Amino acid sequence: MPKALEELFARVLSSRIFRDREKLRPDYVPEELPHREEEIRRLAGILAPAIKGVRPSNVFIYGLPGTGKTAVAKYVLMSLHRAASRVDAKVVSGYVNCKCENTSYRVVASLCEQLGVKVPFTGLSTTEVFRRFVRGLDAEPRLMIVVLDEVDALARRSSEDLLYRLTRVNSELRSSRVSLIGITNDLKFTEGLDPRIKSALGEEELVFSPYNSEQLEDILEQRARLAFNEGVLDDGVIPLCATLAAREHGDARRALDLLRVAGEVAEREGSARVTEHHVRRAQMELEHDRVVEALRSLPLHVKLTLLAIYLLDRRGVREKTTGEIYSEYRELCRRVRVDELTQRRVSDLINELDSLGMVSARVVSRGRRGVTKVVKLSIGEDALLEGLRDDVRLANVLHP
Ligand code: ADP
Ligand code: MG
Repeated sequence: MPKALEELFARVLSSRIFRDREKLRPDYVPEELPHREEEIRRLAGILAPAIKGVRPSNVFIYGLPGTGKTAVAKYVLMSLHRAASRVDAKVVSGYVNCKCENTSYRVVASLCEQLGVKVPFTGLSTTEVFRRFVRGLDAEPRLMIVVLDEVDALARRSSEDLLYRLTRVNSELRSSRVSLIGITNDLKFTEGLDPRIKSALGEEELVFSPYNSEQLEDILEQRARLAFNEGVLDDGVIPLCATLAAREHGDARRALDLLRVAGEVAEREGSARVTEHHVRRAQMELEHDRVVEALRSLPLHVKLTLLAIYLLDRRGVREKTTGEIYSEYRELCRRVRVDELTQRRVSDLINELDSLGMVSARVVSRGRRGVTKVVKLSIGEDALLEGLRDDVRLANVLHP
């Protein structure tokens, strides 16, 4: 093994930074959720009738990513189950993250599985899996609370179909009942949704607002006590993580990621303490990962447009005009054997890249020749190449 690696492993092995790093992972639900007391109380109040066997209203929860929606829903459900089992109320819950189970078939199959009803991975119609779900649930009288988290991740048609079925399932059930909790990051989710579904789903609504930096500090303090050994965090670390995350719409997930990665950077460096310098490094690493992730999901022609800009950049063309980019793009299309889009379209794609923050486009006057758009690359070469590397369609131009 190379010496450098051996040293790295030794540093990580002997590091005393973390007590329990798992406590910083996004799926860990802490014992207390600071600054969500009100939301917890409201959701618990809505669901409380369940322990008396009465079907609670359906609830819809909105809020930007990292505002504690999933954590609050899981927290309240756990408390509800505890209360229900004390009085022997038959309450069950089914939690599905629609980003993972991203078709209505898979969502219902997952609900079946959580009830102990076996369904094959594929092969049945959605109607048939749904029928099995209804039959399975009705096998004994009970109340099921179904949580559809990140429901905006389902395709529009599929979520409408699923929500339609679920909001009407109580008329098919004889002895059991279902309540729904829908959760979404998309504040406009219900716009344009079938009004019947909309009103059935939104019997109650909760909106989670972003955390400010003081609130994020409290959240981080609580997790840091569990995750880090005593005294390893410099005083400025938590405030800096909180400030950086607050600047980005108050995302607690982001704040916790920063803190975790800062700890990992310190660990790899063999540092005994986590400092603000490690937080800055963590910020860069997370930014890099985010760009790479975003690049991977771009459509082919957007990737080609970006690649054209990058190749011009490498040839030393600093201020690239749409015309220059377009001819480079056409050349790339020829090499990867796809039909090219029009210059007008490519110009739109450049605007899209601009709004994603991957390039910056600016309109400049060229005197008598009118105006033109000049474009600069805003992301690093490393991230760009890493994000495009695994696209086999680009193999011809990336690994000639
Ligand atoms: P959302 O579902 O709104 O995107 P999550 O509930 O997944 O956000 O929260 C993101 C991360 O932040 C999770 O690790 C969660 O435990 C943590 N978190 C969010 N709000 C709080 C809070 N009030 N107290 C403690 N941890 C929180
Ligand atoms: Mg969530």
